[in-house]
Amino acid sequence: MSKKQLLKIIILGDSGVGKTSLMHQYVSKKFDNRYKATIGADFLTKDVEIDGQSVALQIWDTAGQERFQALGSAFYRGADACILVFDVTQQESFAHLTSWMQEFNIQAGKRDCVLIGNKTDLEDKRQVSSKVAQQWCQKNDDGIKYFETSAKENSGVEEAFICVAQAALKKK
Ligand code: GDP
Ligand code: MG
Repeated sequence: MSKKQLLKIIILGDSGVGKTSLMHQYVSKKFDNRYKATIGADFLTKDVEIDGQSVALQIWDTAGQERFQALGSAFYRGADACILVFDVTQQESFAHLTSWMQEFNIQAGKRDCVLIGNKTDLEDKRQVSSKVAQQWCQKNDDGIKYFETSAKENSGVEEAFICVAQAALKKK
């Protein structure tokens, strides 16, 4: 039996896009409608099996300090992969993705990444089409995959986490 692998995955994106909600939905299948600004950089661990390998996914959420260069180096240190999140109902959160990506590449070095457009349950308020998001991924030519999710309705969440974990695991 091969030994359990640890993968550190960090979640980045503007405040309010649903990073904490996505993490809780993925790890504990819970969604809480009340807005809680995340206090203190924190992580949750989920044990999964990927391609027959036992993996401990250590998922790091930001400390409610989602300004550029405000996240400490401990947050980025040793990160194997990144989940970039924007809110499909907030154009601005999409516009900031490039800066988040650059920040991640500088702090953690080039790593696997997936893009999540969250809050697809609010379809009537949508400001960013999936086509535009996919085009953004193509411009970033390292083959970033795009997922649409609703942390509220638990759609697409598992797929996005597994995809990035799978890619990162191949490089271990
Ligand atoms: P964070 O600042 O990126 O960690 O965002 P949060 O997870 O704290 O979520 C911000 C707000 O958006 C909260 O009120 C959540 O309940 C709400 N939210 C998060 N994900 C979704 C979603 O998929 N759909 C809807 N309708 N609301 C969501
Ligand atoms: Mg949060």
